[in-house]
Amino acid sequence: MIRKIVTIPNKILRMKSKRIGFVDDSIRDLANDMIQTTLDWDHDSEFGAALAAIQIGEPLKLTVVRNDFDDAKSKEFTTLVNPEIVKSSNENVSDVEGCLSVPGVYGRVSRPLKIKVKAQDINGDPIRLTLEGFPARVLQHEIDHMNGIIFLDHVKDSSQLFNIDKNGTLMPVSQSKKDDLKKIKQ
Ligand SMILES: [Zn+2]
Repeated sequence: MIRKIVTIPNKILRMKSKRIGFVDDSIRDLANDMIQTTLDWDHDSEFGAALAAIQIGEPLKLTVVRNDFDDAKSKEFTTLVNPEIVKSSNENVSDVEGCLSVPGVYGRVSRPLKIKVKAQDINGDPIRLTLEGFPARVLQHEIDHMNGIIFLDHVKDSSQLFNIDKNGTLMPVSQSKKDDLKKIKQ
């Protein structure tokens, strides 16, 4: 089922998500809804890399992450339950990111280049992942959602905020938009 995506300034996005005790069919159904919702959102030059459960209003530690970030036609996702960063590299890298809950806005964020993550898969079995570059960025962004953090919180100054046009070109946001986004930042 396609669900409604919660967007800023809805305070639901500031909730802390709860650990999932047992991975049952209700969790698998929820993950499936999240995948359908992300695929439904894809449009023009934009496509969803991942979604956290809080983005459809469910405060649970659950995320679905696209398997292939380079191919918008790829519809395969990996579901991660209770993901947790166990190690981050000292080396940081800065890149532009966006969010389905922050429509049309992109921002430059510095994050650790590499992370080690522990989680459970869709069957509840423990898994460990070592991620680098964009996949590491995506998962840090999703785990932030579980802690009520939005990428805007990490954008150093408003000159690093952008809009995107239909061709995927980034342009600086207007002053009024900067002022709006400043109110949301924590
Ligand atoms: Zn997001």
